[in-house]
Amino acid sequence: MFKRVLIANRGEIALRVLRACRDLDIDTVVIHSTADADSLAVQFAGRAVCVGGPRAADSYLNTAAILTVAQATGCDAVHPGYGFLSENADFADACGKAGLKFIGPSGAVIRKMGNKAAARELMKSVGVPVVPGSDGAVADAAQAKAVADAIGYPVLIKAAAGGGGRGMRRAFTPEEVEARFEEARSEAVANFGDGEMYLEKLILSPRHIEFQILADQQGNVIQLGERDCSIQRKNQKLIEESPSKALTPELRERMGAAAILAAKAAGYENAGTIEFVLDKDGNFYFIEMNTRIQVEHPVTEFVTGMDLVREQLRIAAGLPLSKPQEEVALTGHAMECRINAEDPRRGFAPCPGKVDFLHLPGGQGVRVDTHLFTGYTLPPYYDSLCAKVVVHAPTRLEAVRKMRRALEELVIEGCTTNASLAHLIMYHPEFVRGSVDTGFLERNLEELLKWYDSVGEEAEA
Ligand code: ADP
Ligand code: ADP
Ligand code: MG
Repeated sequence: MFKRVLIANRGEIALRVLRACRDLDIDTVVIHSTADADSLAVQFAGRAVCVGGPRAADSYLNTAAILTVAQATGCDAVHPGYGFLSENADFADACGKAGLKFIGPSGAVIRKMGNKAAARELMKSVGVPVVPGSDGAVADAAQAKAVADAIGYPVLIKAAAGGGGRGMRRAFTPEEVEARFEEARSEAVANFGDGEMYLEKLILSPRHIEFQILADQQGNVIQLGERDCSIQRKNQKLIEESPSKALTPELRERMGAAAILAAKAAGYENAGTIEFVLDKDGNFYFIEMNTRIQVEHPVTEFVTGMDLVREQLRIAAGLPLSKPQEEVALTGHAMECRINAEDPRRGFAPCPGKVDFLHLPGGQGVRVDTHLFTGYTLPPYYDSLCAKVVVHAPTRLEAVRKMRRALEELVIEGCTTNASLAHLIMYHPEFVRGSVDTGFLERNLEELLKWYDSVGEEAEA
């Protein structure tokens, strides 16, 4: 096992990785920006080194400084968390060259799956179903219209380098393709420095179903069941759960097998996620692979009883998977709400600020992953995710009830969050029934916000 791991991230995921290292008796070094000098990860780490200013480009993406720190502090591995350098193939390669094990797949695999248009082609070639769409990239709006005519409207214009729901536009007519193509491309260039675009048929009212996989260096690949991430805002996940109400054991078996096939085709190593959309008729289609630990991994940890970051460390160290597929048992129902420092009443504007008082929910089957503490000031420079409230109960309805009470116990004073909105969703009949799709929030947001306002007014009266 590793002696000392450098954690190249911040926030709740830096803490999460730190905890797994401590549980395995591995030393930790955390790098941070000047804006995060008082963070919990910095305080809990064996050692913390500031690598630059608040801007991610100066610190959390500062490859040269990060590698220098890793070598100077005697680290033998680097955990990238999610976001930042986690899906940066050049960084993974650079770690290897510097004599450090990158805790994730090889640079070559990240490169292969990081271009979503190319990943689609690879999946098609091994028989994993993909959404009907373009063969590889499309050069311009004219070519996009030709592809759309062939596959039929509506279509989704997507960035090959996309992530976090950005660089994506729907088009229902040729005129909309014309209008949206360059818009999507500019967003892709601005966010990813890459304007390669491709086209998929827009699946109407699908569910987002993803499979967690683990692959060791010995060639063993297992899947840990699915997560249903259909509650999304602007193609970004808000609530995730496992198992999905939409899967029968037979469909789970088939999708799980497709996920394993996909991972094997990629030559995958470490933890990864195969994302699918599932249509109303039970057809599933690969959309992308995330070659890193995901935000919503605790949902899978609850139903499997496994520690996914521990598995990541074991795999990277060359140890075999801690259990074979036959021993993976999925128990009960888990659900996660992402608590973001943003104001649903003001178009979800980010609300960084000082946490004047914090109370976290607890009790059986409740887990909160957060880097907040009373007195902490959320810096404005990064992602607004500030806590993940996760529950586990025998059945879905019991998990919904437990989530309601967990969110009632959560108190974050000083900055506005979306926690009340998540709480209201736990009472929405469609959600409680589990008849959800990726359009749920857009469809119900106005009603939920009205409800939200009336609850607020009653509280003030
Ligand atoms: P998950 O499936 O883990 O929820 P998200 O798409 O929500 O993944 O992304 C997780 C984190 O990584 C978010 O902070 C998001 O902003 C960031 N992220 C995802 N993809 C990219 C990318 N291509 N470039 C930069 N940041 C990204
Ligand atoms: P990102 O890399 O930004 O995570 P994804 O390709 O995973 O992008 O898509 C993000 C979300 O957009 C999905 O979870 C789903 O809700 C929606 N989506 C993506 N592709 C399609 C599609 N072809 N049809 C319908 N919805 C889609
Ligand atoms: Mg995705």
